[in-house]
Amino acid sequence: MKKCTKCGATPVIIHRKASGQILCKECFIESITDKVLKGIRRNKLIEKGDKVAVALSGGKDSVMVLDILNSLYERNIIDLFAITIDEGIEGYREHGVEIAVKNANKLGLDHRIASIKDYFGKTLDEIMTDDCREHGACTYCGVFRRWIINKIAREEGATKIATGHNLDDETQAILMNYLEGNIDNLTRIGAKSEPKSDKFTVKIKPLREIPEKEVALYAIARELDVHFDECPYSRESFRGEVGRFIKELSVNHPTIMFSTLKGFDKIKPAIKKEFSGKKVKIGMCINCGEPASHELCRACLFSKKINNEE
Ligand code: SF4
Ligand code: ZN
Repeated sequence: MKKCTKCGATPVIIHRKASGQILCKECFIESITDKVLKGIRRNKLIEKGDKVAVALSGGKDSVMVLDILNSLYERNIIDLFAITIDEGIEGYREHGVEIAVKNANKLGLDHRIASIKDYFGKTLDEIMTDDCREHGACTYCGVFRRWIINKIAREEGATKIATGHNLDDETQAILMNYLEGNIDNLTRIGAKSEPKSDKFTVKIKPLREIPEKEVALYAIARELDVHFDECPYSRESFRGEVGRFIKELSVNHPTIMFSTLKGFDKIKPAIKKEFSGKKVKIGMCINCGEPASHELCRACLFSKKINNEE
């Protein structure tokens, strides 16, 4: 029987092909927690006294972020609360919201829940049944979700917004933007956002170096209450296609995601220096007052179109 390479215990729950490490449950949990907390320190994601809003969907990634950041909250290093967005995706989101509520309650944290319909008049499902829509589900979802989370975070005095992006998400973003030639987006990928307006709260990604598989294993090992359902719209997206491609490559090349991320982080300063020359002036949306680079912010522009207000 295989033994844990750290403490010699059995049974083991993971064999990391990339490093050769074999770990029992306790050593696995410890190794992940250490890695996340070290990443937070190295990248200066959080400072003492921060008020962190976790964008909590109820999925394994955001519940794991909440679980780890709660250890900093319990030690009085940070203040912590959760924000959940109900996009209005029938048969999928209700369960996520329910689980998010359970997790926030279990830890005794404040929790704000807001829906796209309340702010923008329609659920994501309603937007997607309109034949005149101009974009895919993830574009509307992302724009509206970011707008609401940023607004609530500011209302609550949050100094950071923590999201559950993991290593798979991050390598997908790198490859996707590279393949589409979105160099401007590439300059913004990183562990911590650099907002162009002080009305945008800094966003951090504590799980950026943790592979999705290990996030799932952490959730199981810690017996966290999470939902593993997949959003019905995720398969349609280009991100989904790129994700499947990277997963296939990872079978024979287990370190490919780490090397993509590490390589990108090395060349990013050069990309930034070369390509972030065009300074976009950030003003205020004439409709909602949120930061915008045109008269209307993207959320208001979309909102007017989906509600036929143009
Ligand atoms: Fe929204 Fe797309 Fe994610 Fe579904 S997969 S929750 S539509 S961003
Ligand atoms: Zn606006």
